[in-house]
Amino acid sequence: MKPVLVWFKRDLRVDDHEALTHALLEGPVLPVYVVEPGYWANDYTSGRQWQFVRESIAALDSELTGLGQPLWTAVGDVVEVLERLHSRFGFQVMHSHQETGPDWTFQRDRAVKAWCESRDIQWIEHKQHGVIRGLSDRARWAQQWGAVMDAPRLARPAALPLVARPPKPAVDVVAHVSIADERLVGSQPGGSVEAETLLNSFLQTRGERYRGGMSSPNTAETVCSRLSPHFALGTISVRTAWQESQAQRARFQSEKSAEAKRWSASLKSFGSRLHWHCHFIQKLETEPRIEFEEVHRGFIGFRPIEETRLDWLERFEQGQLGWPFVDACLRCLAQTGWLNFRMRAMLVAVASYHLWINWRETAHVLGRWFTDFEAGIHFSQIQMQSGVTGINANRVYAPIKQSMDQDPDGRFIKRWVPELEAVPVAWIHTPWRMPVSMQHQCGCLIGRDYPEPVGDPVQMAREARERLTNWISTHDLSGEAQRVLKQHGSRLRQARPRYGKKANSPQLSLDV
Ligand SMILES: Cc1cc2nc3c(=O)[nH]c(=O)nc-3n(C[C@H](O)[C@H](O)[C@H](O)COP(=O)(O)OP(=O)(O)OC[C@H]3O[C@@H](n4cnc5c(N)ncnc54)[C@H](O)[C@@H]3O)c2cc1C
Repeated sequence: MKPVLVWFKRDLRVDDHEALTHALLEGPVLPVYVVEPGYWANDYTSGRQWQFVRESIAALDSELTGLGQPLWTAVGDVVEVLERLHSRFGFQVMHSHQETGPDWTFQRDRAVKAWCESRDIQWIEHKQHGVIRGLSDRARWAQQWGAVMDAPRLARPAALPLVARPPKPAVDVVAHVSIADERLVGSQPGGSVEAETLLNSFLQTRGERYRGGMSSPNTAETVCSRLSPHFALGTISVRTAWQESQAQRARFQSEKSAEAKRWSASLKSFGSRLHWHCHFIQKLETEPRIEFEEVHRGFIGFRPIEETRLDWLERFEQGQLGWPFVDACLRCLAQTGWLNFRMRAMLVAVASYHLWINWRETAHVLGRWFTDFEAGIHFSQIQMQSGVTGINANRVYAPIKQSMDQDPDGRFIKRWVPELEAVPVAWIHTPWRMPVSMQHQCGCLIGRDYPEPVGDPVQMAREARERLTNWISTHDLSGEAQRVLKQHGSRLRQARPRYGKKANSPQLSLDV
């Protein structure tokens, strides 16, 4: 009997795996993963992401081997790999999950589709989560998302009949792939077991203070779920996290204690974010051009890429802007691969408004740094925080205020910017204002041990606001804003086009 091929992509798990479950109903399964050097040459990829993928491939292979059929892993162009497997096994059906990725994977999928058609192979793509392919109307999206999330989860297969052993075990194949190795501080390990452990610890202990603790980088590190790289690579399904968190929430909702109230509020917030996960990816699914072009076409040319000051971009990449809290966030992200939402948003606001860096430049720098790089969330969020979507409030974060609010005692700053270790708390947010005698006293001379600030943040923000106001007043933006709203706007609350006003969008209510 000819095997059915299951192409593992960003779904490296065996639980709640629609493609695997359906393929097994049709015959013995040949599970395949292809490492694609072409993908890893893109500007938004990095060694830290590869390390996470590599560990997740190894974990998947060990699960599949335990079930009876090890993973076939190959390096190269997917079409060429499929062609070779087809010559050997003659498979006629291939299952995979739908993938909403950057343009590179979109074009690759087109090539695979064309190849399947040329070989008369049926390629069946299953829903990966709440993103709806071919969606024509955002109005019913939330219900459709709910239907996917509330549907029963699919059990892991009891066994996989052996089709054939691969020529080389997956770990040996991936060991020889050379993609920049990065040594991070406390990087997150890949694999489904890790994902389940994280979900459990979040639901049992860490998540209680999620709502109050997600905004400060001091607390976010532990109270946030940290599941993002796992969702990005599908080592756990979003549905699993949704169902387990909502079951836990239901248990607490009937209780009156302060602890139960905290849990209930936190798990409600967590559920909203799982919703946003798909809400943002849906934008790229519906309009793939937003990887390259402003969501609101009226903002094309607003912040020309040629105007990006390369010296400022370099200081941004090096965490050497001279604004301690921003530098701490940049260095934390560069060294760990993770940062909480609020601080990611602040970094983009600083890059876009204060430094006037084009969002595409920022998207690539940050994309490489995020272990959890997820194109749909990433490009949509970067554009939203850069003020070019036309339907979201413009948040020009004040970096010094954020510093005082989120890190009042400078603990986070001192952790990531050790040259400021001896600076008294009174000066930690603005060390350039420290009297020179004090600088000598604490052994930190500004301009020698720590850079002069890139500019006055208040003045730079004022200039940015003026440029934005000027653009809005000299361009007719309302028609395109209506289109964006219709195509991408959340329907959970009544949204409307906004330019530079206070937030009313649920994606911007930050639970503080
Ligand atoms: C500029 C910018 C870029 C971002 N790029 C990415 C990215 O490439 N990949 C990515 O997964 N997230 C991205 N986010 C969203 C968010 O910051 C991360 O999902 C979150 O910090 C990951 O940590 P966590 O898993 O502990 O999240 P939790 O707070 O525990 O949330 C649970 C899950 O909900 C989803 N989620 C949380 N917040 C958001 C949000 N605001 N929008 C959409 N989904 C959300 C994520 O899947 C996350 O894992 C970005 C945010 C900003 C401001």
